[in-house]
Amino acid sequence: MLRLSRAVSRYCGVQRLFGLGGKGPTVLFYHGVEENIIDRDVQMLHMPLRVFEKQIAFLRQHREVISMDHLYECIVNRYGLEPRQVVLTFDDGYKNNLRVVAPLMKAWNLPFTVFVSTRHISESLRFPTYYIRAATLYTEKRHIHLNSVQKTFDLTTHKKRLAAAETIAEVTKRAPLELVKRITAECVDQLAPEKWAELNARFSSDEPMSWDDVIRTTSMGATIGSHCHDHCVLHSNQPDEEVHRQLANSKAAVEKNVGECKYMAYPNGRVDDVSSVAHSAAKFAQFRMAFSTVEQEVTQEVDSFLVPRIFAVPEYEEFCYQQQRPHHRLAALSVPY
Ligand SMILES: [Zn+2]
Repeated sequence: MLRLSRAVSRYCGVQRLFGLGGKGPTVLFYHGVEENIIDRDVQMLHMPLRVFEKQIAFLRQHREVISMDHLYECIVNRYGLEPRQVVLTFDDGYKNNLRVVAPLMKAWNLPFTVFVSTRHISESLRFPTYYIRAATLYTEKRHIHLNSVQKTFDLTTHKKRLAAAETIAEVTKRAPLELVKRITAECVDQLAPEKWAELNARFSSDEPMSWDDVIRTTSMGATIGSHCHDHCVLHSNQPDEEVHRQLANSKAAVEKNVGECKYMAYPNGRVDDVSSVAHSAAKFAQFRMAFSTVEQEVTQEVDSFLVPRIFAVPEYEEFCYQQQRPHHRLAALSVPY
């Protein structure tokens, strides 16, 4: 009974939260997938492999995994958008997309899309969130002052370190790119180079792919899209010319190194992270579709430059409820806990 009521409340809650009524396909987004997670607080963007395998097994059984091109064709030709369909996407371009994800996708013959941040690929740069979290959690200092944020952070407990990381990460989400670079540089300065070498080796999960790696994923079923050049959040605090530069440069980099770049995903991708300038710039740059992280299904009425995507939650049972379609709802109640 307890199981049943938990299942029902979860079902109702999750359905209300995501508004999923089985009206159309879903586009799921992941980041990395790793065999071993050493520190969840640093590696928060990486899903444990055993969870990922279960999720994919679930999708293979209950859904139909289609390619990005197939989704696009269905939308433009106004045919065949089925609630059963699901598109798999991976953001940022982590090396584990090649090492862990691509071999599984190839073995199961499942298409997938990787949205890469092209400067990070070209220059083997890690992302600001990695530096912020690793610096605040692993510095030996008990207090740090960041001029870029104009704030001193108390790091005397683990909880305070997590709160500091959260605060700094929040600032970067609304900051212009130049400020994000200053914040990242100040975080890097909190640890000695030897310490970074040690942490980078420990957290190899956060290493980006090289262009050779990206090309290898395409031979294993990946479509490559843009995720901006500097993982730049295209909100209204970003100068217009920066927005255009991010889209044009990332598209050009993918086309130079891999091949045609037809799709893009806005970094962060919530409604506030996509300015009206960004929305029209994505059209101007001649992408076919641009993806948000607004959690809805894809319907025929979708705005092709703000296509919804749903975060693949790591909790298996919640994932199953998210991804159940209406005709499977009774079966959903028997999902094991
Ligand atoms: Zn991203």
